[in-house]
Amino acid sequence: MIKNGTTVKSAPAKRIVAYLMILLLALTIFAVSGRQVVVLLNRCVGCGDCVRACNRDAVTMVMGKACIDPEKCTGCGVCLSACAYHALRYKGEQ
Ligand code: SF4
Ligand code: SF4
Repeated sequence: MIKNGTTVKSAPAKRIVAYLMILLLALTIFAVSGRQVVVLLNRCVGCGDCVRACNRDAVTMVMGKACIDPEKCTGCGVCLSACAYHALRYKGEQ
């Protein structure tokens, strides 16, 4: 609809735009938070840098190897950067 020379969106159009925005936000949140971190046990030397780097308390050492608690992990990726041995990966990534 055009009113006073400007385009005015109808109520259904506004609603569709709002739904699409919410869907986009939900997909973005899922993409970031849905990533699961895994430990490559053959690379982990048990230095504990990832334990200290994680501000969610999601990493513990089990028998000298890092162990990620998926209930606490948000998938932020801080521990991946902290590991000098490249022993942490997002699941499904090389
Ligand atoms: S930082 Fe890397 S090598 Fe050190 S404990 Fe964590 S996963 Fe293992
Ligand atoms: S991805 Fe973030 S929240 Fe998950 S274990 Fe690593 S530092 Fe902690």
